[in-house]
Amino acid sequence: MINFHPSDALLQAHVAGELPLALTTAVAAHCELCEVCKARTAQLSDKFAQELFDVAPFGATELSEFDAVTMLTGITAMEPAIESTPVLSPQIAIGGDTYSLPRVFRHQLQDNWKGIGKVNRLRLATGENRARASLLHIAAGGEIPAHTHKGQEVTLLLAGEFSDEYSNYQPGDFIVMSSEHEHAPRTASGCLCYTLVDAPLYFTKGISKLLNPIGELIY
Ligand SMILES: [Zn+2]
Repeated sequence: MINFHPSDALLQAHVAGELPLALTTAVAAHCELCEVCKARTAQLSDKFAQELFDVAPFGATELSEFDAVTMLTGITAMEPAIESTPVLSPQIAIGGDTYSLPRVFRHQLQDNWKGIGKVNRLRLATGENRARASLLHIAAGGEIPAHTHKGQEVTLLLAGEFSDEYSNYQPGDFIVMSSEHEHAPRTASGCLCYTLVDAPLYFTKGISKLLNPIGELIY
């Protein structure tokens, strides 16, 4: 059961197209795994579309009937094309396992895995300089050294399980950490996550330097 969800403010910003690529990817992937947020997003999309129609463009008092019909026809005409296009879940193999990913990742898997010990990461494009998005695979028995975050860290657990000082996480859990949180995630049976960080991780135990190999791998 999924216990951690994006905030409603985040879902609203996602629907309005206001989020950067890597964050909107995390929300979209969560919604593919979470019926609750999927339904809420559909509801917010309807509301957002309704508000677009209600707001008169360029100071005009209302859309002409012709414009409204043209727009509606355009939208309606698009729907069957979207519905009928089969969208395959991308598959990746790592650590002896094959995973089916949320469809939102299908255009973003162009890099190769890099790894240290039990931790492997595959970098995804974010279109930004500071934000780093990755798929992170941690093999059974692996862990990330204790760290805190200078910025924000978003983790979407895609498969397997991991736990930290705060909770045990299940596939679909959407976890947001900031500078107030210090944790050392570990997995007994292995996991695959999508992670997004907007500043380097700050390791709090053992590894004191910022640019240590595991820090560089993850950030
Ligand atoms: Zn959710």
